[in-house]
Amino acid sequence: MGRLSTLKPRLTTLGSRIARPEGEAARLAERDRNVTWRKWYKTARWQKLRMQVLKRDLFTCQMVGCGRIEANTSQLVADHKIRHQGDERLFWDENNLQCLCKPCHDRLKQKQERSRLF
Ligand SMILES: [Zn+2]
Repeated sequence: MGRLSTLKPRLTTLGSRIARPEGEAARLAERDRNVTWRKWYKTARWQKLRMQVLKRDLFTCQMVGCGRIEANTSQLVADHKIRHQGDERLFWDENNLQCLCKPCHDRLKQKQERSRLF
């Protein structure tokens, strides 16, 4: 069940672009790493840190040229400025976090995902 929930429909359309040359073993190793840190987002500690960051940034999107103020915190993301990629120190570092509105966050992540591809 848990395995199925990680498969997003979006991924299937991107499948051919995400394919990596390292093969199955590398893919599975990466998935395991991802599963580990995904759990951190479900902790009370993260919820608290996230809210702290949103408050610190006054619920304002920190993206240059955006600056949107969003009262609905479900539309805000505490974004890691430096990709943590499972690095606990980066993940929990408040100084590595910024408040972004969802549209900016999604755009940024898409760009980063693309730049990771070979
Ligand atoms: Zn924004």
